[in-house]
Amino acid sequence: MTLWHPDLLVGRPGGSPGLLQNYVGGSFVGGKTFPKLSPVTGETIAEVAEADEATVDAAVSAARQALNGPWGRMSEQERAVVLRRVADELERRFDDLVAAEVGDTGKSVSQARTLDIPRGAANFRAFADIVASASTESFSTSLPDGRRALNYAVRKPVGVVAIIVPWNLPLLLLTWKVAPALACGNSVVVKPSEETPSSATVLAEVMAAAGVPEGVFNLVHGFGPSSAGEFLTRHPGVDAITFTGESATGSTIAKAAADGVKAVSFELGGKNAGLIFADADLDAAVEGSVRSTFTNGGQVCLCTERLYVERSVYDEFCARLAQRATELPYGWPADESTANMPLISSQHREKVLGYYDLARAEGATVLAGGGVPSFDDARDGGWYVQPTVLTGLAADARTATEEIFGPVCHIAPFDTEDEAFALANDSQYGLAATVWTRDVGRAHRAGARLDTGIVWVNTWFLRDLRTPFGGMKASGVGREGGTHSLAFYSELTNVCVNLD
Ligand code: NAD
Repeated sequence: MTLWHPDLLVGRPGGSPGLLQNYVGGSFVGGKTFPKLSPVTGETIAEVAEADEATVDAAVSAARQALNGPWGRMSEQERAVVLRRVADELERRFDDLVAAEVGDTGKSVSQARTLDIPRGAANFRAFADIVASASTESFSTSLPDGRRALNYAVRKPVGVVAIIVPWNLPLLLLTWKVAPALACGNSVVVKPSEETPSSATVLAEVMAAAGVPEGVFNLVHGFGPSSAGEFLTRHPGVDAITFTGESATGSTIAKAAADGVKAVSFELGGKNAGLIFADADLDAAVEGSVRSTFTNGGQVCLCTERLYVERSVYDEFCARLAQRATELPYGWPADESTANMPLISSQHREKVLGYYDLARAEGATVLAGGGVPSFDDARDGGWYVQPTVLTGLAADARTATEEIFGPVCHIAPFDTEDEAFALANDSQYGLAATVWTRDVGRAHRAGARLDTGIVWVNTWFLRDLRTPFGGMKASGVGREGGTHSLAFYSELTNVCVNLD
């Protein structure tokens, strides 16, 4: 079953909207619908069935039941085989998934083809390999009184895992959690963002086609408060919650999880710094900062919204970044050359434009952008803003300290390495930092001294799925990735066998 027409979803208006449904215990089920609007044109491109409390309850029950079925009896290697079939099926549905992601977000087809959708399959293959080769501890014990024992740990699923994700990289972020959760033998109930329901719905079809047993993967659509998100996080049948989204939402979910004493993993917001030292390859630093600031319309938790540049190259760097910001091509999502994309919703655009106004009120100089582009076509009904480069803000200005989540950065100068590290660390967040330098010692000092979950040196957004991923301070709780994901998505039972 194909749920909608891909042609409809790549920013080319026309045709009638499809219906996106919940997926519970292996069947698609409906509900009261809400419209999904195109960020490119503002038109309705799909109707989405919102899961009410009874539907969420049915999804959690189906997930619980699946743990007692064949899924619960599979070995890690057998589950790895299933995960690889899911990856194969994701690749078979590649074009549908590109259309779904592009339609929901307005991102360019070329980004969806090279980043978002390939990472879906890569997540399943990576965690199939990781779980199939994972070991547990064992100890040969001998006590002073002569007793001897063998201790070893058995890995078990946590149970029913609730997975709640945002709209910026929908399939990538969803599968980053579904793959390890299934690898460890859990069943899942996933809630994609209300803004990006399509690729998760295709993923439900993929699960069925790949032979994932009924009830192992369940999907509920809807919003957060008083909707599917809240129903799921306070459901007593959920054993663990993994969440990616805003820090404030993480705080709300933490309170719901505390009531049920549920394990949580949180990947939250950021206000990431990029440090450009005078000894850097400046061409690479400018192009790298274009990517780290404007990729996906600046709607990546890892984007750099604060750039600090050593004073001797500050003027040149500012001029070059501002120039590049004005050159980034708009275009329709289907055009290969398109670099800019719309923001996800009119509300999010209001928020970002509010920060553009606030920056001016706080005394910023606007080196590039600062407004809304005009197209003289259907895109004027969408939610585009201009890529924006700011300077001149005080260190404690709201625009320089709060996460904006749009295509915007503020640039400030520094004089010494110590000052650069201190400026980067002066934030409530601690997700990622990017350092541009040719000094090897400085690169390693940055790794040791920057209080972030990731430090990139002379690159940005280069990920190995085996490495720990997560944030410090308000940017998250816990780490996922590689064996760190196995630690969150499984329980260990220590077995102690008397050898005498
Ligand atoms: P959001 O917190 O508004 O929503 C995220 C998800 O939570 C959505 O599915 C939403 O419906 C749901 N939700 C909202 N309120 C809820 C509630 N009370 N109970 C249960 N569920 C609820 O975030 P967003 O606007 O969709 O995404 C942008 C944010 O995500 C940014 O802050 C960004 O930095 C962050 N993010 C972090 C990472 C990371 O890995 N650290 C990755 C991507 C995005």
